[in-house]
Amino acid sequence: MNTVLDVQKLTKKYGDYLATDKVTFNIAEHTSTALIGPNGAGKTTTLSMLAGLVTPTNGSIQFQDHSVKDIRSLIGFLPQYPKFFHWLSALEYTEMAARLNGLETKNAVMEAKKTLEFVGIGNVMKKKIGTFSGGMKQRLGLAQAIVHQPKLLLLDEPVSALDPVGRRQVMELLKELQQKTTILYSTHILNDAEQMTDQLLFLRNGKLVENGSLDEVRNRYANPRIVIEFESIEERKRFESLITWEVTSKDLSISLAVDQPNVSMHQVLTILQSNNCSVRKVEHQTASLEEIFMKVAVI
Ligand code: ATP
Repeated sequence: MNTVLDVQKLTKKYGDYLATDKVTFNIAEHTSTALIGPNGAGKTTTLSMLAGLVTPTNGSIQFQDHSVKDIRSLIGFLPQYPKFFHWLSALEYTEMAARLNGLETKNAVMEAKKTLEFVGIGNVMKKKIGTFSGGMKQRLGLAQAIVHQPKLLLLDEPVSALDPVGRRQVMELLKELQQKTTILYSTHILNDAEQMTDQLLFLRNGKLVENGSLDEVRNRYANPRIVIEFESIEERKRFESLITWEVTSKDLSISLAVDQPNVSMHQVLTILQSNNCSVRKVEHQTASLEEIFMKVAVI
């Protein structure tokens, strides 16, 4: 697969403060990459450097097509807080973005209309932006970023301002877009990344601390365990007296890490059955996406 973007040791210092510290990764064509991390991790700083809005202190950014003089024709960028001119219509605004990104007037109008239809606000394209809801503005922001069909789409928290339905709809749009372009987007919600990501880049305090597919990262932090919920606290305590494994107990439940010698579902069920323990449920569990986020974000 072709590499669209190669980033080496990208560093940004504000005074003595390292907003990003030697961040290194690359992005293959027609993939989606989620840049994830808690507030202040350096996501916006990274995307702003890639978009040419912030000058790196050190490191390099190499686009596949380095013959291009103006990277604006190569990339589309949706900032975290896009600014709109409220007195313009959605069509006028998108057409303006198309022209700024190198399209000629006739083409710009045609592409703007097509793009507004695609993002789902074609029916209100002649309405003033000032009358738009947050969700409509987010779609308009996406439209201005893709109207010139960029090779690489950079999106800073594209769904954070949306309600759950809007989130789902915009993520569906992005999945469709991935057929035509390459996407790098930031989010601090792992569940959003779960819907669309080939590569996960996890930033913490400006450093890249994880890089891999969602499954790879999941497996690294899976922490598989067997969780048993008993009918009563007495039953839980009785079970505990029958075993030598390390457990974590809370109220009616206990949790057994499966990396201990001889811990298996079969073993657990045998002990429960042969001692007539009263249980409500027994299940295998692995770390949820939220737990994984907390682990990677805090460790
Ligand atoms: P969020 O999820 O809150 O948007 P983020 O991961 O996008 O966070 P950045 O906005 O990149 O984080 O900020 C990274 C760090 O760099 C933060 O501590 C921020 O305060 C600092 N920073 C960003 N821009 C500047 C600036 N212009 N001057 C000084 N410090 C800055």
